[in-house]
Amino acid sequence: MKAEEHKLTAKELPVGDILEAGTAVAFKTGAWRSIRPVWNAQKCIQCMICWISCPDTSIIVKDGKVTGINYDHCKGCGICAVECPKKVCAITMEAEKK
Ligand code: SF4
Ligand code: SF4
Repeated sequence: MKAEEHKLTAKELPVGDILEAGTAVAFKTGAWRSIRPVWNAQKCIQCMICWISCPDTSIIVKDGKVTGINYDHCKGCGICAVECPKKVCAITMEAEKK
């Protein structure tokens, strides 16, 4: 007869993937992406809507201006591309290259 497997209880399961405080910067989530946002500097009017909207703080801002995307942490959710004003369309989503 096969020995019974020990199943973890709810109290024994770890909470999330990050167990220590302050490790979110080191936990690179960019590998989860299947599509990536591509920012066009020429079209961008610096309205900062993408920066406000990004759930992963992956819009890079320097000296008060958007300068690119942090692909180490961007998950490719596409919110920035949807929220970028349609008349500008400075962020497009493209298939991730392997
Ligand atoms: S695709 Fe999502 S995670 Fe990546 S920069 Fe845009 S809003 Fe942020
Ligand atoms: S939402 Fe679009 S136009 Fe506005 S700062 Fe971001 S990329 Fe530029």
